[in-house]
Amino acid sequence: MKNRKRLYTVIISIIVLIGFLATSLIGYFVARTSISQRLQQEMLPLTSDNIYSEIQRDLLHPLVISSLMANDVFVFDWVNDGEKEPEKMESYLSQIQKKYNTITAFFVSNKTKNYYHPSGVLKQVSEDNKADAWYFQAKNSNQPYQINIDRDTAEPSRLSIFVNYRVIDKKGNFIGVIGVGLSLLVVEELIENYQQRYGREIYFIDRQGQVMLQSSKYSKELHIQNKEGLDKVFLRILTTPSSSFSFDTINGSTIYLNSRLVPEFDWYLIVEQVNDPATEKVENALIINILVSSAISLVVLFILHLASRGYQGRLETMATKDKLTGATNRQMFDSFFTQAVARSKRRNESLSVVLIDIDHFKQVNDNYGHQYGDYVLTTVAGIMNQHIREEDVLCRWGGEEFLLMLQDCSKNEAIRVVNNLREAIAIHHFDYTGKKLQITVSAGVAEYQQSEAMNQLIARADISLYQAKNDGRNCVR
Ligand code: GH3
Ligand code: MG
Ligand code: MG
Repeated sequence: MKNRKRLYTVIISIIVLIGFLATSLIGYFVARTSISQRLQQEMLPLTSDNIYSEIQRDLLHPLVISSLMANDVFVFDWVNDGEKEPEKMESYLSQIQKKYNTITAFFVSNKTKNYYHPSGVLKQVSEDNKADAWYFQAKNSNQPYQINIDRDTAEPSRLSIFVNYRVIDKKGNFIGVIGVGLSLLVVEELIENYQQRYGREIYFIDRQGQVMLQSSKYSKELHIQNKEGLDKVFLRILTTPSSSFSFDTINGSTIYLNSRLVPEFDWYLIVEQVNDPATEKVENALIINILVSSAISLVVLFILHLASRGYQGRLETMATKDKLTGATNRQMFDSFFTQAVARSKRRNESLSVVLIDIDHFKQVNDNYGHQYGDYVLTTVAGIMNQHIREEDVLCRWGGEEFLLMLQDCSKNEAIRVVNNLREAIAIHHFDYTGKKLQITVSAGVAEYQQSEAMNQLIARADISLYQAKNDGRNCVR
């Protein structure tokens, strides 16, 4: 019974725990997946879009200036006149630079290949010089302009964004490339700003994966191939115009990454986030969830245990005890008797039984009512219980008849015990709802004899009881 109860408790515990664990874990994984999906599919692309549109906005201004320059009659006329007095072009460029606050303004003539700058003719572009490739690209392009990020010819230490506008004269001939340059600082500030606002790492790489521009906050890795975790995915970034994915690094953190090609620069804009902070919150929630559900499980199981123990106890009492007096019932007496006989044989001890019957009990019922009778029965059982030992058994044998089994007790000892008990009852003042009464009992004792059946033994006690009644009651025989 006990083992089965333990088994049930264990099974219920496992079911409750699995239930709680399953719901917590499912919730956790669903939240985690949706967070990382949101990050990959919405938040990082959004950051990337914002940065891109700001870059486009910043490029608009120099584009308009370059377009105006490319359509300026002065430029057409001056070139047509044979590029005489280069100071004129220099002062024109100088004015543009001052007026629009660009870092440089330039014109390269297709006829002379001269590179004009506010400070003079800097050089002549040549197809053999790799540094001049931008010019020939613009010349051969079918687009009105190209944007190029390059070292400034006037100041080679500085990276600048150049707008290279094709100049086409009134007859439709290509006469050169004109434009302005602006500092990359604007873009750098943009990166810093976004980095601070969102805690995301933002940088640009060229088509070869070379890191071209990144925040001052981060260590300068020259190639994304060398960045931890990126070595496996860099080819994927460089072969698609835009991609979004996540990967785990060796130190256990997850990196979410979005890349997009910025066609104006021909660079990839990379937005990276290490370990989404929302995921950490979800992880904490999972731990709290598991702790709370474990605590609830324990409390539920404890209550269940208490309830089942109480229920079981009540069932046992109901099956073994007399409801009114709390004495052992007749059904249980059998097994107690068998145990007692075995014990007395084993230890060679004597064993006695006593039948006790309340005298004139019918009159109690008749004169004082049934409830009074019940009160007397309960009180008599109580007094008897006080006079016997733990191992003795008091059984309600019939209506107002009790059977007492005294272990390790001979007939004479039993008579002495029962006489004490009889006297205690006789001197007791029964008092219920103000009605007082004296009660006596008669008792018949019999000592167990070798291989005697229970019925035989009780029958002998019954004969003795009959004798006691005949002898005037309130006595032991
Ligand atoms: P005697 O001295 O010869 O034993 O007389 P008596 O009146 O006690 O004998 P009898 O056996 O005729 O009466 C027993 C009565 O006990 C009859 C029955 O109504 C009453 N009785 C039996 N069980 C209960 C009980 O649970 N409660 C109450 N109040 N009375 C009970
Ligand atoms: Mg009777
Ligand atoms: Mg009686």
